[in-house]
Amino acid sequence: MAELDKLIRDYAELVIRSGVNLQKGQRLSITCPVECADFARLCAAAAYEAGCREVLMRWRDDDLTRMKYLHADDDIFDIVNSWEIDYLNTLSGEGAAFLTIHAEDPESLKGVDPDRLRRSQISSGKALETYRARLMKSECPWCVCSVPSKAWAAAVFPELSEEEAVARLWKEILTACRVDGGDAVQNWRDHVNEVRGHMEFLNKCNFRTLRYKNAAGTDVTVDLPEGHYWGGAEEKAGTGVMFSPNIPTEEVFTLPKKDSMNGTLVATKPLSYNGSVIEGFSFKVKDGRIVEVHADKGEDILKDAVSVDEGASYFGEVALVAYDSPISRSGVLFLNTLFDENASCHFAFGEAYPNIIGAEDMSEEELLARGMNTSITHVDFMIGSEDLEITGITHDGREIPVFRNGNFAF
Ligand code: ZN
Ligand code: ZN
Repeated sequence: MAELDKLIRDYAELVIRSGVNLQKGQRLSITCPVECADFARLCAAAAYEAGCREVLMRWRDDDLTRMKYLHADDDIFDIVNSWEIDYLNTLSGEGAAFLTIHAEDPESLKGVDPDRLRRSQISSGKALETYRARLMKSECPWCVCSVPSKAWAAAVFPELSEEEAVARLWKEILTACRVDGGDAVQNWRDHVNEVRGHMEFLNKCNFRTLRYKNAAGTDVTVDLPEGHYWGGAEEKAGTGVMFSPNIPTEEVFTLPKKDSMNGTLVATKPLSYNGSVIEGFSFKVKDGRIVEVHADKGEDILKDAVSVDEGASYFGEVALVAYDSPISRSGVLFLNTLFDENASCHFAFGEAYPNIIGAEDMSEEELLARGMNTSITHVDFMIGSEDLEITGITHDGREIPVFRNGNFAF
């Protein structure tokens, strides 16, 4: 157990040093479930050690959130409190760091009124637009990481006892994050460099189109915008420091050209979304827009998700992950997008990251003209498989294998 305690401390240090890369004099906002307070304390300690000016806590609790959706007055779901807006705008305006510790029970909101979820998402999407845009543009450093909660661990490992499930989930998380008792920060740096190799190849190719195909039924082509670039593992904050928005991460990603995608996308993993699990789903896409939605389980929730606004039915992310990535090889279905998206090639519907060269100096209209999608939502879903083939087509019509048998072909 003492061994595990040390690894967990290393992990907390990793999310502070490489995740948000906290700088002296900077404030840190931590969002964390109360059940995981021990881990939040380790993060706060690591942050103060790095010279943090102040750690501010936003506590969460699955049970209280569920109670609110079941019992609060109905008009509450159309309101965002002014102090919440003020908190996030003030901190993001001063360049504070934002750490989210995610440990949600994947089915914590099962059965609550989907209309309440949808309205609450729309109202906070609108009210927190400034804050969200600052994070999407990496003006502030932010990081999402995960630690086991009892309910989440039990959902992932239903065959184990509660204690065994939590221990096993810790082991899987730490392995995925390359926290192995050695120098976790250095391990992470080595990993970031490997991801950078994939990015550089894709950026050099500057593909016009990607074509996807596998036996599960995905058969789709998508164009990439003029001036797009592939990112991954690290981002540069407004202050110039590098940070890792997701720990763990395996993906390299860019944005699709909004109206260019055509074909069928078939999910290869269930999706945990807003406290419900959606299974066996697929999209038919025409000129970039989702025109048909099917799901064996959770179809209504998925249909709501792609219609929260106009941009929700278009795509905002194209991401590549090797089928042989450590998370994929673990064979564990985490029911948590931070992990499952990093086990598989995926797309996201909704808001795009502005991965266009010179985007900082472009107006919203210019970015939209390049084909960037905007929305209040952004949801990753997984389509990778061991037989996935992706072929890149360059502007002069050359075809270059990008993925063969589920893995990078270069
Ligand atoms: Zn992604
Ligand atoms: Zn995403």
